[in-house]
Amino acid sequence: MELKRIYRFPEGWKPNRNTRDPERVSKHNPLGLKDAGKREGDVLNPPPVDHFQIKHTGVRPEQNFSQKMIEAGQAAGFLTISKGELILHTKPEDLHYTIVRGPGYYCCHCGEQIVDANLFVKDEEGEPTEQTIGMQHAETVHEGKESPDQNNPSGYRRVHGYETVLEDKQHKKFNLEEFQRKRLAGGDGKGSRKSSQRSQDNG
Ligand SMILES: [Zn+2]
Repeated sequence: MELKRIYRFPEGWKPNRNTRDPERVSKHNPLGLKDAGKREGDVLNPPPVDHFQIKHTGVRPEQNFSQKMIEAGQAAGFLTISKGELILHTKPEDLHYTIVRGPGYYCCHCGEQIVDANLFVKDEEGEPTEQTIGMQHAETVHEGKESPDQNNPSGYRRVHGYETVLEDKQHKKFNLEEFQRKRLAGGDGKGSRKSSQRSQDNG
């Protein structure tokens, strides 16, 4: 997936570049930059991001979102999770991803979510046994069969972020191959930096 940041330039906005000033030169700032922690020429007052433009959504409709991506997206206000969907507020349209799995534990055999899979099963006296709730599921439901997932021999795995699938219509419209095809056809301006959005809408 590739999204492009489109900035909103406030009226009269001028870039404040990281320039040198001999008066600022010190041991910790040998070039005398305005901000010694940034590179020379960097813009120190980036304008706010107005929106994200969809370039393409990748090769496959499946998309994993890490917890970090979710948090960053929510903080920036362009990602919401609602009614089993993860929505990216992009242009020309919002991207709708159906959530297949959210954070939690899942059985490698049947895919079922196992709540508290990593907690130990308690015996009759209430003492923890050596078996976890996830292992118990594999043993009782799947008759102790070997885990189909070599990386998770105990038969269940942890999902940290969100496993999702992009809406079929949107996958067809925005996948990487389609993006490249349009680009070759001259639809999406490669080399034209004046972002004249002349996109053909094929329904
Ligand atoms: Zn299972």
